[in-house]
Amino acid sequence: MDCLFCKILAGEIPSKKIYEDNLCYAFYDIAPQSDTHFLVVPKQHICCAAEITAENADVVAHIFTVIPKLCKELGLDSYRIINNCGAGAGQTVLHLHFHVLSGSNLGERLV
Ligand code: 5GP
Ligand code: ZN
Repeated sequence: MDCLFCKILAGEIPSKKIYEDNLCYAFYDIAPQSDTHFLVVPKQHICCAAEITAENADVVAHIFTVIPKLCKELGLDSYRIINNCGAGAGQTVLHLHFHVLSGSNLGERLV
């Protein structure tokens, strides 16, 4: 499958790993938008948030337990979790991922 994050998961494209378990992988974004900017992706290829179902939602719940654990380990007290779903919302990589951003430049907000 021609998916950038599947290639990163397969080790075909290098990445700066933060954390890995049997369900998910966390790595730093190549173009950080804040002091700290990392991504957490399911190992299973799920295209986007619109593809989350009762059958695959466990991995999403798991990711939402991993994120606070990693933030604690990285010493981040405040952070923003973002998911872009669909091209119109800015999704550029069609493999579900959650951005975790932290730092001094999170003042601008849409919601
Ligand atoms: P999206 O725009 O789909 O919400 O987020 C995709 C993110 O993947 C972007 O923030 C972009 O900087 C990041 N990205 C794109 N290509 C690579 C890559 O090869 N390695 C890493 N670590 N991040 C990437
Ligand atoms: Zn993929």
